[in-house]
Amino acid sequence: MDFSLPEEYRAFRDTVHRWVDAEAPKKWARDLERDEHNYPFELWDKFTAAGFHGVGISEEYDGQGGDVIMQMLLARELARSLGGLAWIWGITSFAGSKSIGLYGTEAQKKKYLPLISTGQLKAAIAFTEPSGGTDLLGSMRTTAERVEGGWKLNGEKIWSSSAHVADYLLVIARSDKNAEKKHQGLTLFWVPTTTPGLTITPLAKLGMRSMGSCSVHLQDVFVADENVLGEPDRAWYMLLPTLNNERIMVGAFCLGVIDGILEDALDYMKQRHAFGKPIGQFQALQHYVADIATMQTTTELMLHYCAWKQSKGENVGNDANMLKLIASENANKAADLGIQILGGMGYSADTDMQRYWRDSRLWRIGPITNEMVRNGIAENLGLPRSF
Ligand SMILES: Cc1cc2nc3c(=O)[nH]c(=O)nc-3n(C[C@H](O)[C@H](O)[C@H](O)COP(=O)(O)OP(=O)(O)OC[C@H]3O[C@@H](n4cnc5c(N)ncnc54)[C@H](O)[C@@H]3O)c2cc1C
Repeated sequence: MDFSLPEEYRAFRDTVHRWVDAEAPKKWARDLERDEHNYPFELWDKFTAAGFHGVGISEEYDGQGGDVIMQMLLARELARSLGGLAWIWGITSFAGSKSIGLYGTEAQKKKYLPLISTGQLKAAIAFTEPSGGTDLLGSMRTTAERVEGGWKLNGEKIWSSSAHVADYLLVIARSDKNAEKKHQGLTLFWVPTTTPGLTITPLAKLGMRSMGSCSVHLQDVFVADENVLGEPDRAWYMLLPTLNNERIMVGAFCLGVIDGILEDALDYMKQRHAFGKPIGQFQALQHYVADIATMQTTTELMLHYCAWKQSKGENVGNDANMLKLIASENANKAADLGIQILGGMGYSADTDMQRYWRDSRLWRIGPITNEMVRNGIAENLGLPRSF
């Protein structure tokens, strides 16, 4: 057995680590996150200059190459400082490069992947509907009706992150009302946000405020046939394998947040004094950081295992569920301990613990809730489906 990361990956990780400290330090991330009316375009442009949008896209389409392990390392390092704002990179990487790369035609790949690699195209995911995200398929009301030359979309989506600045939305809609099963008769559309009939409205929320998460109203939105991704009516079958990839990225973001928390907690414990000594001498606080470090290591082991398995094309479904579960619970617990270690300053908007806590709170809910993840793990143990 070999648990070590090969040299090429370590070099990439170390380069991104240094880049983050120089170009996207925590204080800047804190200021950027706060302003819910201003999307951080400057951060997006820095990612472009560093070539991050092209990680995972082959050189043939102007990308940087790299596999899921590379993407996982990038996600972790970005989140150490940026927390949830690392999604600014992740959403387009998932909605755009992953989806077009996997289901796109050669013409679609040639048209869109170079634009994504070079930071000229932002994408957002519009799957969840107001009537329910966990039972996404059962509650889906958005319809796609065949018309001459394409489709007409009607419906309502919610929580589509960064949709207000996106050039394209990845939309899933019910294209066959008579399908026998709810996971059948669904189609994936790549919708330009300039299309008439689209109304995109940012929603107020707890964390990742400047990234914006939006409601999307679709009224008679025409989508040309050339903007259908993959085979019509078979979207769910196509999407399933990519959901594992998304869970691995969530695991990486959570681990990055734990890294940031541990750094800040240890720093503070050395500087802050009480009763004539650094607070790092108090056993209670030492236990807290020992717990955070243990969460860091267990999350890392599971993350590396899942990314390695995915890179070899093995079935990672149940492992990716377990990773998403422990990574999000660990990150949120670690952030809570981090706040406690900093005392009043942990609650202050001028330190990062509150930001890590708010951001990691989402990952217990999205992209899939931890209750639903547990349902899947239990079912995998041979128990009957509970819903
Ligand atoms: C900030 C933010 C950003 C997001 N970004 C995006 C995005 O970019 N694109 C996108 O498409 N979506 C996005 N989402 C949506 C996210 O994926 C959903 O919120 C998530 O899937 C949960 O759906 P829901 O909110 O409708 O909760 P519900 O489905 O209404 O669930 C409510 C509660 O019921 C529980 N529950 C439901 N069914 C079961 C069951 N069978 N067993 C046990 N418990 C159950 C859930 O676990 C949860 O606790 C985002 C959400 C947020 C908050």
